[in-house]
Amino acid sequence: MLQSQLFPKTKKEAPKDAESVNHKLLVRAGFIDQLMAGSWTLLPLGWRVITKINQIIREEMNAIGGHEMLMPLLHPKAIWNETGRWDKANEIMYKLKDIHDKEYVLSFTHEEIVMDLLRKNINSYKDLPVSIYHFSTKFRNELRAKNGILRGREFMMKDLYSAHASEEDLIEYYEKVKEAYSKIFTRLGFSFKITKASGGVFTDKFTHEFQVLSEAGEDTIYWKEGDKKAVNEEILEGNKKDYKSAKAIEVGNIFPLGTWYAEKMGMNFTDADGARKPVWFGSYGIGPTRVMGTWVEVSHDDKGIIWNKEISPFDVHLIGLNGKGEDVYKRSLEIYKKLLENKIDVLFDDRDIGAGEKFADSDLIGIPVRLVVSNKTGDKIEYKERTSKESKLLILEEIIKKLR
Ligand code: ATP
Ligand code: MG
Repeated sequence: MLQSQLFPKTKKEAPKDAESVNHKLLVRAGFIDQLMAGSWTLLPLGWRVITKINQIIREEMNAIGGHEMLMPLLHPKAIWNETGRWDKANEIMYKLKDIHDKEYVLSFTHEEIVMDLLRKNINSYKDLPVSIYHFSTKFRNELRAKNGILRGREFMMKDLYSAHASEEDLIEYYEKVKEAYSKIFTRLGFSFKITKASGGVFTDKFTHEFQVLSEAGEDTIYWKEGDKKAVNEEILEGNKKDYKSAKAIEVGNIFPLGTWYAEKMGMNFTDADGARKPVWFGSYGIGPTRVMGTWVEVSHDDKGIIWNKEISPFDVHLIGLNGKGEDVYKRSLEIYKKLLENKIDVLFDDRDIGAGEKFADSDLIGIPVRLVVSNKTGDKIEYKERTSKESKLLILEEIIKKLR
């Protein structure tokens, strides 16, 4: 992509009300824009990052037999009354009436909707298990919609739902999802702790959260020295002095829900022994928009964002230090085309502006590799990683080899 055509331009100053690092940097670098508190546009750069995060999630969901689909966001009141969550989750729901006074809610989750799908389509144990997921918007009336894109009132979630004929089968699958989540967050490049927590408005049972250690986090988690697993403050028992603790950001949460939803909503199936039984149910969420913000919180410096190659909006940032029409411009345009031919995703700063401004933008946007072509680089190209101070002069073929 030509940077001269990228929308919008970067900003020198962060918005006045921006407190968190992710808010300041993602807005300045042109990844997101705030419409109102908790409501964000994912701009072209931001959408590229989200697309990459979603693809990693998608691959790991498919690897454990998940099937992707898409569910509606406008839900009738009646279905939420079946479980009592119309009242129980009142505080976080955005409720609305149409001109005939019929009541609706904008989706804050989809358990009830999936349960309705199951009872329309599942009759026998032979129809189980089921594992279905979607990526879509969630609406939650968050009291404190601050902390940038970490806490939206409207945000993206991947939610997976699974239904099983027995508790053992649910637990076995729950462990598989736990492993898949560990793979996802490892592939994304996070260090994280699997944390035992409460179930909120979803369940009375324990759940597991995936927590990334960061001062920007709103949760506090505790673990014993040397332990891989942690517990959330809300369920900590015993003496806090025996534990290490840290602030953390919850990026994922998995829920072994049991038969509660099926009992409330009459989702019974005929088992192998002929008896009618309620289905065993689990739900599993990750917030890709929060994941993007979390990455910025844990990976930046005073100049800007530092993406890794897994979720960077581009593989490489090519900078031509030129005035248009000069040799340098022609040469960098040739290199741009060669990179594209080799399936390398490149942002090409083709603008007719000074070197200082180009480098500052490059550090702010944070693509892992920067290539500079100038009248000093001859037939070579200056190659520099975002995390490194040193650069080296390489020929294009070497660079293509490195990037592929
Ligand atoms: P929190 O405790 O931070 O309010 P939650 O426990 O209510 O989150 P879940 O219902 O477990 O959230 O949602 C699953 C995932 O969706 C979370 O792990 C997180 O990644 C994401 N998520 C939840 N709420 C938000 C939000 N307001 N903005 C952005 N992402 C969110
Ligand atoms: Mg949660």
